[in-house]
Amino acid sequence: MLLTCSKCNTKNFLDPYPFWNFKGTTKCAGCGAIWQIETVGGACVSGPKEGTGTADLLPGFAEKQDYSPISGPGLTRSAPRARKDAVCKPIAMERNVRGKIISGHPLKKEDLVGSKPKFIVAGTR
Ligand SMILES: [Zn+2]
Repeated sequence: MLLTCSKCNTKNFLDPYPFWNFKGTTKCAGCGAIWQIETVGGACVSGPKEGTGTADLLPGFAEKQDYSPISGPGLTRSAPRARKDAVCKPIAMERNVRGKIISGHPLKKEDLVGSKPKFIVAGTR
């Protein structure tokens, strides 16, 4: 979703995932204006209206009218990273008698956080 600031014409790119169902404020990366928006299912249903205070969520990327990028701390949000508890940890592997990898360890329910099998196991979204 694109939020073009009416004050400075900066194009603020609002990523679909965090702004999918969103109600709150975001900040223009060009001029720092606060905008109030509400989205449902990735579509804007209210706003953008001028807001006050601090931004709830920053745009993922922004660019000026001349297509030069704007990014940095306090202006745009950093890209999402892998789960903290899964980074830099070895996956337990099982090998057969010939030394070939046959599987990782059996997954537990808590290993499936956010995955499709988790929805099947838990039965909810
Ligand atoms: Zn602006």
